[in-house]
Amino acid sequence: MQLAISILEGKPFRRDNYLTGALVTRDNARVLLLQNEEVVKQASRLTSLHGRVDAYLAQYKHQKIYMILFGVIIVLLLGLIVYTYRTIVMKHRLEEETANAKLQFFTGVSHELRTPLTLIAAPVEHLLEMGHLTDEQSTMLRMVQRNVNVLTQLVGEILDFRKVQNGKMPMVLSDFDLSDYMRQWLAVFNASAMKQKISLRLEVPETLPVRADLSKVERICYNLLSNAMKYTQTGGHIVFSAKKHDETVEIVVSDDGIGIPKDEVKHVFSRFFQASNASGGTGIGLALVKAYADMHHGKVAVESGEGKGASFIITLPLKQKGEMAAAPQPYVPLIVEDTEDVSSLNVSRNIDELIGSGEDSKPEVLIIDDNNDIRTYLRTILGSSYKVSEAADGKYGLELARRIVPDVIVSDVMMPVMDGFELCKLLKSEAATSHIPVILLTAHGLDSQRAEGYDSGADAYIAKPFSSRVLCSRVENLLKSRRHLHRLFANQADETEENGLSNEADKTFVSQLRKIIQDHLSDSELSVEKIGEEIGLSRVQLYRKVKALTGYSPVEMLRKARLARARHLLQTTERSISEVAYAVGFSTPSYFSKCYKEEFGIQPGQER
Ligand code: ADP
Repeated sequence: MQLAISILEGKPFRRDNYLTGALVTRDNARVLLLQNEEVVKQASRLTSLHGRVDAYLAQYKHQKIYMILFGVIIVLLLGLIVYTYRTIVMKHRLEEETANAKLQFFTGVSHELRTPLTLIAAPVEHLLEMGHLTDEQSTMLRMVQRNVNVLTQLVGEILDFRKVQNGKMPMVLSDFDLSDYMRQWLAVFNASAMKQKISLRLEVPETLPVRADLSKVERICYNLLSNAMKYTQTGGHIVFSAKKHDETVEIVVSDDGIGIPKDEVKHVFSRFFQASNASGGTGIGLALVKAYADMHHGKVAVESGEGKGASFIITLPLKQKGEMAAAPQPYVPLIVEDTEDVSSLNVSRNIDELIGSGEDSKPEVLIIDDNNDIRTYLRTILGSSYKVSEAADGKYGLELARRIVPDVIVSDVMMPVMDGFELCKLLKSEAATSHIPVILLTAHGLDSQRAEGYDSGADAYIAKPFSSRVLCSRVENLLKSRRHLHRLFANQADETEENGLSNEADKTFVSQLRKIIQDHLSDSELSVEKIGEEIGLSRVQLYRKVKALTGYSPVEMLRKARLARARHLLQTTERSISEVAYAVGFSTPSYFSKCYKEEFGIQPGQER
């Protein structure tokens, strides 16, 4: 084109030219047109292909980013899994190490305890054998002996457990009749079951020959039975049974006690484990049960739920394989029968005895503790100055407190069924018992526990071990502060009386009582029963409560209120003596005059 334009415009041009385009002639014009169209089509296809390639490239770029992100997440996840796994393993190892350290420490302490324990046990035994002891002395020494046995057993249990763990505990196999022994083992618990009103049932075949390590099977059964006793309330049931299968024997101890929370059941056979609702103990007993069952190639299982009781099922082979003991093993029972006098519990006293007690009768103390020996000891030190009643757990203690309305309650904190804090809260919230001072005994001297004790309304808190002098003076002080209240009431200080009371329930009670009496003063029919009905207390409860708070019986208090009103009427109105007598509910003026003289030392007529 440029060449053609140069020729036409007469501009210089190169003469020698090679034309790159084809010569368009009439003949080839059509073909060239078609070719041109084809070229345009191809060009547009190329453009679209380019577009697609670009789109694919963009997609590829995105995918690459996703891939990288995905890779990073996978790496992070893997890291997290490894970290969690390592933490779990470390935690497990740490727990294991802690448990081992604990066991090592306990083992050390146990070894150290053996000698002093022997040195307590032997002289006590010697003293008991020598005789010439008073009843009280021998009761006390027996108590020492029993408790040394408890400690010796605990120490023995820890040392045994250590031996099992080190693989140093031998199996001593012998043939024996399991039914026969189970009968004997259960009998050991008869006395304490009777005291706690727990029914024990044995379900075994007539005979049940087995080959096993007798003392280990005994330890298994003893641990399960003593746990069942510990965690079953008054009035509960325990069944101890054995069933024979083809090759195994199944020993079951089931109770209808407090049970174990569902999520904690799986841990009960672990060393040192104690459920959240447990009270006291070491957490060794069941671990030893499992260890002994394992040594017999047996199995342990437990079915339980909170408040649903617990069933422990031990399955052992009927005929344990292994070498029999060379010589027949002399059988020494693990526990000797608790022969403490069951009748020492004076819990069912009749109502007339309670009310009929005269003016000079001793104040009554209710002792609530799950340990028999602590109860016996407290009874010994308090018995000379006070009347003493006992209960073995919080729930029964509460029931008894409602019934007998004692003057002071001394209760342990750690108790199965209902602990001391809960008991104290309930006592302080009920009209019949809210005025009773409560002393809590606990094994912990921790300030936080002390605070919890006072929060629950306790009046005093004594840490175990306590001296008998401290306890006696606490009881006496609490009774004294009640006597101080008596004076407040005796002075007829009216509305200010309530200020001497710290407990809301007591304040309500006093103002309720005063209102009933004031409203019904002229009603000669107003009786103690009627007042009790209005306040919602039984005759005994009203009597004991009014007496504790005011120092008077309800009848005396009613009479005092009537006479005080009469005096007021005589001094401020012109009414005649008989009118006043009737107005304050006396049915005869002569009886009114007699009472008036007794109360104020002068005849009603002399008031004017
Ligand atoms: P200890 O009784 O000394 O605490 P154990 O190993 O004997 O130790 O028992 C471990 C825990 O299992 C106890 O602390 C208690 O929480 C629970 N437990 C055992 N037996 C029973 C039972 N019969 N009823 C309810 N809880 C039980």
